[in-house]
Amino acid sequence: MKHHQQQSRPEKFSQFLLKGELLKAISELGFEKPTPIQEKVIPHLLSSEQDLIASAQTGTGKTAAFGLPLLNLIDETDRGTQAIILCPTRELCIQIAGDLGKYSKYIPAIKIVAVYGGARIDVQMRALKKGAQIVIGTPGRTRDMLKRGKLRLDNVRRVVLDEADEMLSMGFKEDLEAILSQTQESRQTLLFSATMSRRVVALTDMYMNNPLEIAVARINLAAANVKHVFYLVQARDRYETVKRIADINPDIYGIVFCRTRKETQEVANRLMIDNYNADTLHGDLSQAQRDEVMDRFRRRQIQLLVATDVAARGLDVDDLTHVINYNLPDDDEIYIHRSGRTGRAGKKGISIAIAHSRETRKIRDIEQKAGISFSKELVPTGLDICQKRLFALINKIENIEVNEAQIGPFLPAIQEKLAWLDRDQLIKHFVSAEFNRYLSYYENAPDINLTGHPKDFKKGRRGTASRPSRGFKRFYVNLGFKHKINPAKLIGLVNECLRSNEAPIGHIEILKNFSFIEVDASFAAQLIEAGHKKKYAGVKVVIDPAADKPEHSKNPRKKKYKKKYSSRKKR
Ligand code: ADP
Ligand code: MG
Repeated sequence: MKHHQQQSRPEKFSQFLLKGELLKAISELGFEKPTPIQEKVIPHLLSSEQDLIASAQTGTGKTAAFGLPLLNLIDETDRGTQAIILCPTRELCIQIAGDLGKYSKYIPAIKIVAVYGGARIDVQMRALKKGAQIVIGTPGRTRDMLKRGKLRLDNVRRVVLDEADEMLSMGFKEDLEAILSQTQESRQTLLFSATMSRRVVALTDMYMNNPLEIAVARINLAAANVKHVFYLVQARDRYETVKRIADINPDIYGIVFCRTRKETQEVANRLMIDNYNADTLHGDLSQAQRDEVMDRFRRRQIQLLVATDVAARGLDVDDLTHVINYNLPDDDEIYIHRSGRTGRAGKKGISIAIAHSRETRKIRDIEQKAGISFSKELVPTGLDICQKRLFALINKIENIEVNEAQIGPFLPAIQEKLAWLDRDQLIKHFVSAEFNRYLSYYENAPDINLTGHPKDFKKGRRGTASRPSRGFKRFYVNLGFKHKINPAKLIGLVNECLRSNEAPIGHIEILKNFSFIEVDASFAAQLIEAGHKKKYAGVKVVIDPAADKPEHSKNPRKKKYKKKYSSRKKR
């Protein structure tokens, strides 16, 4: 036991040699005790110029770990750029800039500028010109600024590479190298990464000098509040499983992790069609769309965010009730990373892995490597869901506050109208009014749990509640990102044209100026005719038949199934 280490740990931020202004600001933010990574990183940066490699998962407080010392060490009287922080996405840039802005609230002389793609470069150039001691950028835009001569790094003392593994996965290696080459050899380089892949190690070997390595326990304190559950189902029942998880947890607020952009879009589309508050976040979306989705998710207008690992990386959203692994990741660290998104801030969280039987090994693997344990649970059956929802409704009826004064005037008429129903019948009517939707959907819903017995794979499933494969027809619509259309809005438009939301909808592809949407072929004539009478955002709508996509067979499910195993996400 290393007791001496325990004793020397500062319990409070005030034990670090940080400026009073910084201490005041973070205390106002409610930071009481430093997190483990902060305990290790802050004193090092304040006292040493040695390079640093720190590995810690999302949510462990890395931003303040490097941000506070960085701010503390800035020479306020010098307006030149003294520190640069590189991170993979625009959202992270904005988040880090916001965090550092809050920490330095009482040191107004420190200017922080974020530069990232998808926003007006001239505005960012002007901000740089006014002087920015700390620049936070995505590698692409930062390099662009360097090329244009709008950013000078010759006086940069410290370079932070945040989420380094993700930057490498996203192909920023060359940009990073170009940026680093414009800084002085004597700079201090600080690398933060959730995982230490071979590529990260190679980068540190190339660009770092005798770095100090700091790792904090991979599962942070918060993650002790996470319960890990797995469900065993057939691959094709993954979607149905998500649906049931959402149905049995009406207040769910979570992220569904998928492997590929295509899969996120498909899962999100189906959830939206099935009337869930869901949307998707992946790299194919424009920046404006990503902002819009994140904003709605933060405000909880979206309950289920379907995302790829890259898109969700580093985003600081608290209070998630569930993390759903639509597929198990190949890497146990990624699983830990995903599940660490829930169970934060002292709250309990559940991480669910949807696995098929050949993946039980992967579950054991993750358990071993990550030192956690999963409990195998059963996907709720239709009956479970109906019971739970029913009792929630009954509870609500029991506990609802009755405002006598307001409803009083209406009561005589209502009494009269319902006089023919006795108490029993009345209860049945109220419950059915609220509840028939679930009852009919789950009426013949099968148990989709796998026992793990081989016969489960051969036998077809009876009474399936999932949608049969359909004859889709692909349509061109003259609305794209440019017109602020998104899948939900496009589906809405189709429903408006058809005056119904019954039409089965397949793949949706949204491009800049136009989109493609698959709709059940039997609705084609009606859709085209009604479409041409519509206007959307001031534009006269055109919906036309489009050529079928060659890769897309008549039986999409079969194709998808195959694809899932052949297309590993490129990392
Ligand atoms: P990471 O970069 O490791 O993913 P962040 O720096 O985004 O983590 O921090 C995650 C959350 O924890 C943020 O909301 C941040 O404000 C909060 N936080 C960081 N340090 C502390 C602390 N010492 N006490 C309380 N909250 C903290
Ligand atoms: Mg971070």
